[in-house]
Amino acid sequence: MATFKAVRIDKAEKGTTAALTQFDDADLMEGDVTVAVEWSTVNYKDGLAISGKAPVVRRFPMIAGIDFAGTVIQSTHPSWRAGDKVIGTGWGMGETHLGAYAERVRVKGDWLVALPAGMSGRDAMAIGTAGFTAMLAVLALEKHGLTPNDGAMIVTGAAGGVGSVAISLLARLGFHVIASTGRTSEAGYLRDLGAAEVIDRNEFSAAAKPLAKERWAGGVDSVGSTTLANLLSMTKYHGAIAACGLAGGMDLPSSVAPFILRGVCLLGIDSVMCPIARRKVAWERLAKDLDRAKLAEITHEISLDEVMETAPKILAGQIRGRLVVKIA
Ligand code: NDP
Repeated sequence: MATFKAVRIDKAEKGTTAALTQFDDADLMEGDVTVAVEWSTVNYKDGLAISGKAPVVRRFPMIAGIDFAGTVIQSTHPSWRAGDKVIGTGWGMGETHLGAYAERVRVKGDWLVALPAGMSGRDAMAIGTAGFTAMLAVLALEKHGLTPNDGAMIVTGAAGGVGSVAISLLARLGFHVIASTGRTSEAGYLRDLGAAEVIDRNEFSAAAKPLAKERWAGGVDSVGSTTLANLLSMTKYHGAIAACGLAGGMDLPSSVAPFILRGVCLLGIDSVMCPIARRKVAWERLAKDLDRAKLAEITHEISLDEVMETAPKILAGQIRGRLVVKIA
């Protein structure tokens, strides 16, 4: 194949343009493994890259898409052979390295994780960076020592990708999960995922007090800004909040009070440059702990052609749960 189908982003006079087009094999970037992509997904960051709303893309032309699952077609890396089923997420794909909305990718073999036994490529992309990030957050909370006996877990951005998977994982682990959402009409969906309580995200829209009534032992926050500040001020002594997102803003209008008066910890979660050993642990845990039937229920499939029209919807917070993109 001399060319392949891809969502290409180019620099324009004003901002960027995105189009589904043919990309030349010869223009693939350096890497020791070439993969035939079968499935991808749409994350918040993909929405930003395609719409050009934030400077996610730092090389042009770029192929958008930060996640893929597929089959190795060529490899000079000792760990991978043609036919191996692999997952690739992050590492700058779709930002500085040609990404996943394409029939093929060429990447470093060191970036890849083997598809866990019993998990399909479609399942892996129903999880995607959003679900992987939720798992990293749960691992961080566990490492902090939190158990269901310590108290409830709050999950913000609950009806989004990270939030939905975080609720499902935490509920399965036995936590009392409080889901915070702006879409209270989704209460039924959130309870089906395992939320014990559903609250309105407006509770966290006002400026945070340095300390407020203790409400939870920990949480997963994909919103940032005043939401995260309020979460911290309401976290119990020696609890922890895993912060992974900025859907509500990049700022953090908080004080040191929760940290120095209640010993609360803020755990930073980064999925993009996450070391490979932690990735393997996270994917093994996702294979074991995530209810795949529930995941299937919250997953909606689209084609590569539909990715562009989906980008503004994810930025507008209109996507519920997870999307998979069928590539091949
Ligand atoms: P989604 O768009 O699927 O979910 C985000 C959710 O946040 C929305 O569904 C909505 O939930 C809530 N939300 C949206 N806008 C606002 C707002 N203005 N104020 C408060 N809440 C809002 O995105 P993802 O789940 O894929 O990603 C969530 C965040 O995590 C993003 O900021 C993303 O960039 C970040 N992220 C970070 C990663 C990392 O490595 N650190 C990896 C993956 C994602 P509801 O309707 O329930 O209120």
